[in-house]
Amino acid sequence: MTDQQQRLRQIPSVDRLQREFLQDGSLGLPRALVTEIIRREIESMRADLTGGDGAGVPDDVAGSIREQLHALSAARIQPVINATGVLIHTNLGRSPVTLAALERATAVASGYSNLELDLITGKRGHRGALAEEALACLCGAEAATVVNNCASALVLILRALAVGERREVIISRGELVEIGGGFRVPEIMETSGAILREVGTTNRTHLDDYRRVISPATAMLLKVHRSNFHMTGFVESPAMEELVALAREHALPVVEDLGSGAMVDTRALGASESEPTAAQCLAAGADLVCVSGDKLFGGPQAGIIAGRRALIRALKRDPFFRVLRCDKIVLTLLQETALACLEARSEEKPPLPDVAMLGLAAASCDELRARGERIVAALAAAGLPAGVKIEVTASEARFGGGTMPQCAMPSMALSVRGAAGGAEALAARLRRAEPPVIGHVGGDALSLDLRTVFPRQDEMLARALKAVFAGS
Ligand SMILES: *Cc1c(COP(=O)(O)O)cnc(C)c1O
Repeated sequence: MTDQQQRLRQIPSVDRLQREFLQDGSLGLPRALVTEIIRREIESMRADLTGGDGAGVPDDVAGSIREQLHALSAARIQPVINATGVLIHTNLGRSPVTLAALERATAVASGYSNLELDLITGKRGHRGALAEEALACLCGAEAATVVNNCASALVLILRALAVGERREVIISRGELVEIGGGFRVPEIMETSGAILREVGTTNRTHLDDYRRVISPATAMLLKVHRSNFHMTGFVESPAMEELVALAREHALPVVEDLGSGAMVDTRALGASESEPTAAQCLAAGADLVCVSGDKLFGGPQAGIIAGRRALIRALKRDPFFRVLRCDKIVLTLLQETALACLEARSEEKPPLPDVAMLGLAAASCDELRARGERIVAALAAAGLPAGVKIEVTASEARFGGGTMPQCAMPSMALSVRGAAGGAEALAARLRRAEPPVIGHVGGDALSLDLRTVFPRQDEMLARALKAVFAGS
């Protein structure tokens, strides 16, 4: 028998693997899916051994398929404890929405709703009318609308406003940025059909640079907020007011992609930096602004567009608007988040305690330390493995999500040293805990920052640590 034939005979049967993997229920995946994956893998290995050179067939066939199934099971979207200290973490679903908003969305989505029905007239209604009105009010805009995300908001704006003889969009070279996750301003602009007209240099762009290239082919002036990095030193770019004055001379619109989308002054949330708000940008004369729904706003993934009514109308008339429209769950979450922000404003409460995520930012370091010490005490009472040392230390939390790169907030973290296998191994075990805990490894310590851990999760965090220590 050749080597290939022998390996072929050693491949376990689908039935055997299925019984083995489904026995203890630990995968939590439906039998049909598990069986299908086993069948697919075994078939491709057989084909590789009969038709190919068998190079793609692992020595431990069962082990390799089990690993794949575990990876798939771990890929199930599920809650995790964010102990990274990064408030808006794109890998961890960006900003959490409030439970109040979610309750409303659950009720709406699990049954029928008046999504497109006018309850007064009984006729077809306008989708998301209140969400749009509330968002416009928050931004101090004539009108607002929403699409799938901020990237699609920008594409829609360019598609709708850079048309016909006027396709050129003037933008500073200093703003042709990459925001992460495949968002490169020049590429996004190209997909829209707009023609990029770059002016100035990476660090300095003057008003005259814009002035010089304005022509009958110009569609608009575009500003992109450098939300995820900071330039200092020999830098210059014209203020929004100056750009607006220039654009007015030529009857051109000015659009700003704000991305991070602060709706209130972030300094009021304990940040040392002030992120420009949509309202400030419009007050400075911008005709349209677009912001992400799931960054500083604390809503769901969405692109919020606010500004002049005539332009918002034009966007909504573009057939592409239909392609990018938000569903009822997103619209309900946006509606509730915007209403909660306005509620806070009218009660003169601190600006955004309603947004759960930013409510976290309001916790003092003393509170965080006290919570950390309670967790440490609970772990000590349960007994730590030999050599493990856990203490509460000062740390720095960040806003993240491409917002305020300069801005660190004082925080407190659990610092764990001396775990078996080192800090990386401990981090890996915690990622597989129930619920998964995501920390940050620095040197020989695993750091679990408490600013991004909801107080209601403290007990779960302690339990996850206990379970991981007990298993090691
Ligand atoms: C984050 C960001 C985007 C992308 O927003 P999405 O909602 O993720 O599409 C675009 N522009 C800027 C300036 C950003 O900060």
